[in-house]
Amino acid sequence: MCGKLQVPVSNNGHQPEPTINLDHGDPTMYESYWKEVGQDFSLTIPGFQSLSYFSNPKNLCWFLEPKLEDEIKNLHENVGNAVTENRHVVVGTGSSQLILAALFALSNSVNDPINPVSVVSASPYYSSYPEMTNFLRSQLFEWSGDARGFDKDGPYIEMVTSPNNPDGVIRQPVINRPEGMVVHDLAYYWPQYTAITSAADHDVMLFTVSKCTGHAGSRIGWALVKDESIARKMVKFIEINTIGVSKEAQLRAANILEIISLSCQSAHTFAWIKCKEGMDCEKLFRGHKILTRSGRRFGCDPEYVRVSMLSRDEEFDLFLQRLSTIHGDGINGN
Ligand code: PMP
Repeated sequence: MCGKLQVPVSNNGHQPEPTINLDHGDPTMYESYWKEVGQDFSLTIPGFQSLSYFSNPKNLCWFLEPKLEDEIKNLHENVGNAVTENRHVVVGTGSSQLILAALFALSNSVNDPINPVSVVSASPYYSSYPEMTNFLRSQLFEWSGDARGFDKDGPYIEMVTSPNNPDGVIRQPVINRPEGMVVHDLAYYWPQYTAITSAADHDVMLFTVSKCTGHAGSRIGWALVKDESIARKMVKFIEINTIGVSKEAQLRAANILEIISLSCQSAHTFAWIKCKEGMDCEKLFRGHKILTRSGRRFGCDPEYVRVSMLSRDEEFDLFLQRLSTIHGDGINGN
């Protein structure tokens, strides 16, 4: 029932106030977008396809579908939010599995059979970190709370969530000691949540389609990992845990990421509108109190105009309102 209104049955005939469940971070807000955009992007997987455990035996991450790897790199390239060159891509069943894979890989590389490595994050931190870390009572790592109060000597792992869940703050590590290892959880480092100011370039970076496109149900996340031995250990963790990641989910995620990449490429700050043959489009718009720039100024016919999409929301909404009233009057609609 995540995110749905729950209407309890009333026993006195009155409809009680519905409960709004805003506890879960279930990304159903993207549903209307995908209903509009995604109809033509269905994926059919024939019965004979995707039988093998292996996707690419030559790859370090042998269960990673090559198309997903390509689309992940493509999308980061288009968005400019992460460096992918010389990184190993490790796919996981959601970034949740990759968080545990990263904790395993990093703590396993510390050669201390007695003391578990401390896992910390500056509060307010993502509420699942403590439970995930301690759930299996691992001897390799243990939750040690708020990074700001952490004063234990020795190796530690700091989870840096940026932008942060729950407060959206852009974050850096707070401890900064040489024996520290950092996992950058970049689930929300996408332009719909924050300005992308530079391509993130960290040792271990985690992303997820759950927050990027809203397809939380596909359970696909990925890690970009600099160090080969850490990447290998993460792959080993996933191998032991689930012998890889669903190919169907990977192929769907690849398809979805491709759509997003294509839409990034076609984004424009100006609309180029064509009116009916022989019409002076600028004049037509002016008659409806909308100022545009005639196609003539761009070396084209006057039936074209350029419309700036950079105005304030209220102005743009007013433009759309007026546009709807003149549509039959001479605009071709492209
Ligand atoms: N990291 C952060 C910061 C999150 O908010 C979430 C989801 N709420 C996750 C990781 C896990 O995402 P998933 O397992 O769906 O990829």
